[in-house]
Amino acid sequence: TGRLEGKTAVVTAAGQGMGRATVLAFLREGARVWATDIDAAKLDSLHDHAGVTLRKLDVLNAQEIQSFSSEIDAPDILFNCAGFVHNGSILECDEDAFDFSVNLNIRAMYRMIRAFLPGMIARGGGSIVNMASVASTVIAAPNRFIYGTTKAAVVGLTKSVALDYVTKGIRANAICPGTVESPSLQDRMRALGDYDEARASFVARQPMGRLGTAEEVADLVVYLASNESAFMTGNAIVIDGGWANA
Ligand code: NAD
Repeated sequence: TGRLEGKTAVVTAAGQGMGRATVLAFLREGARVWATDIDAAKLDSLHDHAGVTLRKLDVLNAQEIQSFSSEIDAPDILFNCAGFVHNGSILECDEDAFDFSVNLNIRAMYRMIRAFLPGMIARGGGSIVNMASVASTVIAAPNRFIYGTTKAAVVGLTKSVALDYVTKGIRANAICPGTVESPSLQDRMRALGDYDEARASFVARQPMGRLGTAEEVADLVVYLASNESAFMTGNAIVIDGGWANA
């Protein structure tokens, strides 16, 4: 039987990349999954999998989060995956860019957890997994000012929730990936001008000499979502091919 048999999960930003890979891993392990994304078309390819419910959800929209959370029973697992990578130093981050990243990378998680946590507590507990990055409290990355700032906040947010609800059966852990192959990474490498050079520089900072895969990260999320990690809460777990250790 699957490692998540009998569990239900909500995943944000499930349309592609690590969110999508995690939906597939959750389904493989027997969970029932609400796969949500702002872009409903990106969810379409998940349609044929048993156990999945697709739903358009913009995590920047408080009203949409509210109605979604009132439509469904609180899940056992909440994977807050949505986030945005702004490219630039502090001088290249204007107020609009600052607000956008704060809203998507932090405020959306705050709202999702506030929407689902009371129900998770009422049903006896659950596991929250929040998407941070190795560019956070762990290391700085070049031109990741507001990204690293907001992902560091995700670590603090996660630790706070973990501490306050540890006696209620709630676990909260953050994951801190290094550079992981995904559609938005492809976009970012193209946006830098010379794709091959950009790719080479992303790979060069990975001591393993390769990028991570979305499936490798999904397997970590499965572990944190499952009872195998029952004694773990409040952690920021690095999965980065040795980047932070270099
Ligand atoms: P991605 O960036 O390619 O896909 C992101 C998905 O989020 C898309 O399907 C998009 O439609 C959706 N989305 C965008 N805005 C949304 C909103 N307002 N509401 C709901 N969904 C929305 O996927 P990825 O690269 O796997 O990144 C996922 C997460 O992982 C992000 O939080 C990112 O910061 C983080 N991360 C990525 C890397 C990397 O190298 N790819 C490394 C560390 C952390």
